[in-house]
Amino acid sequence: MHVRDAVLQKPRLLLVTTGGTITMLRAANGSLYPCEDAGKLLERIPELNMLADIDILPLASIDSSDVSPAIWLTIARAIFQRMKEYDGFVVTHGTDTLCYTAAALSFMLQELSKPVIITGSQVPLEEIGSDGRANLINAVRVAISDLAEVAVVFGSLIIRGTRAKKTSVFDMQAFISVNDVPLGTIGLAIKFSSFAKTRSRRKPLLRTSLNENVALVPVYPGIKPEIIEYIASCHDGIVLEGYGAGNIPTGERSLVPAISAAVKRNVPVVVCTQCIVGSTEMELYQVGRAALEAGAIPAMDMTPEAAMVKLMWVLGQTDDMGSIDSMMQKCFVGELHEVS
Ligand code: ASP
Repeated sequence: MHVRDAVLQKPRLLLVTTGGTITMLRAANGSLYPCEDAGKLLERIPELNMLADIDILPLASIDSSDVSPAIWLTIARAIFQRMKEYDGFVVTHGTDTLCYTAAALSFMLQELSKPVIITGSQVPLEEIGSDGRANLINAVRVAISDLAEVAVVFGSLIIRGTRAKKTSVFDMQAFISVNDVPLGTIGLAIKFSSFAKTRSRRKPLLRTSLNENVALVPVYPGIKPEIIEYIASCHDGIVLEGYGAGNIPTGERSLVPAISAAVKRNVPVVVCTQCIVGSTEMELYQVGRAALEAGAIPAMDMTPEAAMVKLMWVLGQTDDMGSIDSMMQKCFVGELHEVS
């Protein structure tokens, strides 16, 4: 795959800013807060303009703890509307909820013909030792490459939008690619995996209908079934983070009746694993099989973040339980390995 570092005619790039540590400043009390004029900070990286003609679009100025589905929609629509004007897109974002946004953009912006890259940093651009400068330059390099996917560029990795996971609050390599090899790596050169999608004449699709009324809940020793009953009573879908291969409590405080009641009321219950690596395999233990028999849908090797966003996206398109089941187990944007 081609990486255009030295170009005659510079590609056009849109840099969307949303906040996050990368463009934060430190207050007198030591806490970080989002800079209102992120564009000003980004303009101080001259290398960016050597790579591309860049326009900056500030869409938000928030800590990503405050990201909501409404912001995913705003970003997706802003990019889609400008798809023809630019050769690539970079979104700067806080790291805390970056994986949710990356998954959401992956489901909303499909059949991409050019890259949409999300990045951030562990240390603000303004501070000594920041990883922001390198991450941003690499994000722009990938955004003008031949890739044509939603991807996270962070540290030395290029990760598919549905496979990213924040695993460290300390390391500069804060994200990993879960259950799939990365789309590429950044070292002396940028190398892409052979399965990464490349630029083509595909016609991009904007698929933004979402049902935001979905809950993501971990199971834990002692969890009260009433919690699941309550959540099911006020949500249209639930993603349960089960143990290991998708196991849930079935003893004295069994969650099975609550799952079964939810499913009977047309509230889908998707079970993913709390483990970072691996897939649900719900027939393996009686405790997983019981959930399956109660109507739970296995998330297989999807991350909890991707499973939750996908359930919102699926419920935005259908409320038919059979269709929800089959769509959740079908791969749309590299989020899972289908079981044949
Ligand atoms: N709290 C910050 C945020 O997610 C963390 C970061 O960006 O690294 O906005």
